[in-house]
Amino acid sequence: MLGASIAYHLARRGARVTVLEKERPAAGTTSRSFAWINATFSKEPRAYFDLNMQGIAHWHRLEEELAGELKVDWSGSVEWHPPGEAAEALRKAAQRHQEWGHASAATEGAAAQQELTQRLPHVTPGEVQIAAYSSQEGAVDAVQAVAVLLDHAQRFGAQVEFPSQVTSLQLDHGRVCGVVTPNGEVACDALVVACGIDTPAVAAMAGVAVPLKDAPGVLIHSTPLPPLTGPVTLAPKAHFRQYADGRVVAGVDFGGSEVPDATFDYGRELMARAAEYLPALPGAALATVSRGQRVMPLDEYPIVGFAAARPNLYVAAMHSGITLAALMGHSAATEILEGVRLDYLAPYRLERFQTAGQPATLC
Ligand SMILES: Cc1cc2nc3c(=O)[nH]c(=O)nc-3n(C[C@H](O)[C@H](O)[C@H](O)COP(=O)(O)OP(=O)(O)OC[C@H]3O[C@@H](n4cnc5c(N)ncnc54)[C@H](O)[C@@H]3O)c2cc1C
Repeated sequence: MLGASIAYHLARRGARVTVLEKERPAAGTTSRSFAWINATFSKEPRAYFDLNMQGIAHWHRLEEELAGELKVDWSGSVEWHPPGEAAEALRKAAQRHQEWGHASAATEGAAAQQELTQRLPHVTPGEVQIAAYSSQEGAVDAVQAVAVLLDHAQRFGAQVEFPSQVTSLQLDHGRVCGVVTPNGEVACDALVVACGIDTPAVAAMAGVAVPLKDAPGVLIHSTPLPPLTGPVTLAPKAHFRQYADGRVVAGVDFGGSEVPDATFDYGRELMARAAEYLPALPGAALATVSRGQRVMPLDEYPIVGFAAARPNLYVAAMHSGITLAALMGHSAATEILEGVRLDYLAPYRLERFQTAGQPATLC
């Protein structure tokens, strides 16, 4: 997603772009993503919340630019909890986010029940203490979005090559001057490394260390079903949403927990967990179970920008890469083509990891 967005934005602004993808477009984490475009309650501190809000705004801009081909579902998101610690935490977080300008509204008790019945008529929420509806949020079919972005990049002259794995980099006077693939060599003025969880391996070919950590996540997809839910739904023990074509996607964790393999047995367990809230979700509708690897920097915040040690090597590796993709495409193209350093990206430079024992370069 990040590579496609950066390629589109660069090509649109007149750069000669070659996209090298080792498998096929969206083959990596992007095809295993929940793909919710959000700035909700885990997005803190304030600067990171603002970044995600900008991320949302740039999806709107991209939708307009791509004239109806890119379809984002702007139905918002709903989260709720029964009485307890999680309800307390949501109350505080919703208030803090409101103070930051997030369009979320929390309701309590009977009003919360009523809100859920109205917004989610097919959902049985169980006991509800608090519900928060966030109207600015959206969701996208990430695989379709990558296809649209690459198609438009090509209309602006970009070459898209796959399968074409980068196997080594050519260096000259401290700069990357070319990449090597089994199909041949490609010379470059600048190299963008947006290889998801393989970013460390590719950046290491130029001696640059990109610290990511392991963060898997399992999702299930159903066969197409009649309309069951509008907004992205964050129930206490499962989250789910429905694509325009009727497929329901569901998961149970947003990172940090132990994650089993993507077996069909485990998929059936997830399906049953989601069906507690969505009784019309038939077990037989389970179509796929996927285990994705979040592109998770060591401190969980994005890594974006030129590497100090290789001034023409640009790294883009981040979780919430769907939310941030449109913004990062615009931002990377601006930094690469205009030679400016965007203020709002200052907290997310690779060099923040350059502390004792953790060099940002390998050589
Ligand atoms: C379960 C789960 C749920 C998620 N939910 C959300 C969500 O709701 N909202 C959100 O914003 N984010 C979410 N994310 C995170 C988001 O999906 C990722 O941040 C995003 O997809 C990362 O995109 P990417 O382009 O960086 O990586 P990828 O999609 O992995 O793309 C990298 C590409 O590089 C290619 N590649 C690798 N090595 C090479 C090489 N040597 N040569 C050529 N090509 C190479 C790969 O084949 C791959 O296609 C979720 C992630 C997971 C796993």
